Formats: sequence, structure tokens, C-alpha cells
Amino acid sequence: MKHEPISAAPVVNGLSVDVEDWFQVGAFENVIGRDDWDGLSLRVEDNVLRILDLFDEAEVKATFFTLGWVAKRHGPLMRRIVEAGHELASHGYDHARVFTFSRKEFGEDIRKAREILEDASGAKITGYRAPSFSFDQRTPWAYMELADQGYIYSSSVAPVAHDHYGWKEAPRFAFKPLPWSDLVEIPVTTAILGGRRVAAGGGGFFRVLPYAFSRWAIRQVNRSEGKPAIFYFHPWEIDPDQPRVAGAPIKSRIRHYTNLEKMAPKLRGLVHEFAWGRMDVLAHREAAGAQELVT
Ligand SMILES: [Zn+2]
Repeated sequence: MKHEPISAAPVVNGLSVDVEDWFQVGAFENVIGRDDWDGLSLRVEDNVLRILDLFDEAEVKATFFTLGWVAKRHGPLMRRIVEAGHELASHGYDHARVFTFSRKEFGEDIRKAREILEDASGAKITGYRAPSFSFDQRTPWAYMELADQGYIYSSSVAPVAHDHYGWKEAPRFAFKPLPWSDLVEIPVTTAILGGRRVAAGGGGFFRVLPYAFSRWAIRQVNRSEGKPAIFYFHPWEIDPDQPRVAGAPIKSRIRHYTNLEKMAPKLRGLVHEFAWGRMDVLAHREAAGAQELVT
């Protein structure tokens, strides 16, 4: 009997953009205060429009985790994102890390951000990503609050040790953090290198390391582990002309400004090489096989 080869459909990975402006990154928060934001030049809209073109050209749909602060000032852009077929989701109001909040403050932050995002776009917001992946063992109440407010999924965990963030004991793939809720957490991608977890889901790692590293990591996750990879980047990463922040720590400056001019072509390669989709669609698919979190 002749066996037909089983056609291996490519794994559809999750593509996401954390929509914040060049001065709103965690690395600069001790240099530029929130009170200063309104006096700075806004570049996020132009950068997001370039990203929409890039996605359009590659025929991919993605999720835009957007700050309420940005949505408040760029209403028409929110509608553009939704009209282009992408998912608009929440990145909180003004990028405060979740582990600095009480549960009540967190609840107020995500409620405020969601109202602005929904008013601006007309779309329902069901996904959330914590600023700087700031969910960890200190924030068990964060999932309860998301579930109470009706969110479907979160992508707020970096299950790796890192100097600014990380919950290194968290599962590497989709899990259900609450036994009584269908809320699903979809951690950003890590790969296994030499027996250790390494960050491989984007951000500075994608920009600074050779593209071959990301290709290897995504292939490992897709082919060896049969799982979708979750990738993220920021609009300021494709903007080599952004103002330089003086006074920031040297490590932050190197991390923030390296290879900005190479980012757009690198991204173009990435979106063409692998299959990508929206995070809400992926969350729906992954929810069925998601493990319950055992702590
Ligand atoms: Zn962010």
C-alpha cells in the first residue's frame, strides 16, 4: 500500500506589536517622566502606518497591543488598525508595570485603557499584554482581575530570567492560570539552548542578534515542539530617526538604539518566512490544549 505523505501545514505563529512611542519604554522611565510625555514629538502614528503597509504587503494579520495613552491621541489610527483586519488589544494605560500596582489599581488601569480603545476603534477588546511582561509570582490577582473584566486571553509573561522582567518558573506555552476560568495565558516565546530557556520572541533580541538566531528558535518551537511561536516588536524599533534620550543608562541606550535601521528589512524577512496570525485567533486555538497552572 502506498502512503501519501502527510502534508505538514505550517504552524501559524502569533504576531504582535506593542504600540507605544519612543519615550514610553521601561528603559527610559527614570529619565523621562510621564508628566513630560505631552511635550515630546509623537512618532508612533507614522511608524504604525509603515507597519500596516509592511503587513499588508506580506498579507499577514497581527495584534496591536496598544496603550490607552496612545489611543486617546490617535483615534483615527485605531480605526485604521481594525479596518485593516488586525486585532486591537490592550497594553494598559501608560505603561506602568503591573507588579507596581495593587489589584484595585490594576483593575482601574485596564478598565480605563479598554474604554479608550473601544471608544476610539468601535472594536471589542478581549486581549491584554502587560507592559514589560510584568506578570510574575507577585501578581496572582492580575489574572483574576482580567477574568472578572471579561478578557479572553493575556500574553503577559516572559518565562525566562531577564534583568528587567521574567517569570522563569512559568510554563513556556499556553496555560490556564485560573481553574474556574477559560482565560488563557500565552507566554512570549523562549527556545531551549544548552538546556536553558533563552528569550526568542522578539524585542531587543531580534534586533540585536543575527536573524539566523530567530529563524533557528522559531523552527525549534514549530517543528520540534509543534507549538506556535509568539513574536513581538515596537513601532519605535523601525524608526532610526527617533530623538536620542540623553542621560539614560548606557546599557539601555545600546539595547534601544542598536540596528534600528536594519529592523524593517529584517521584519520583512520574518513575516514572509513563517506563517503568522492574530493573537485572539491563536488564543482560541490554543485554549483547548492549554494546561492548568499548578503552583
Ligand atoms: Zn510595552
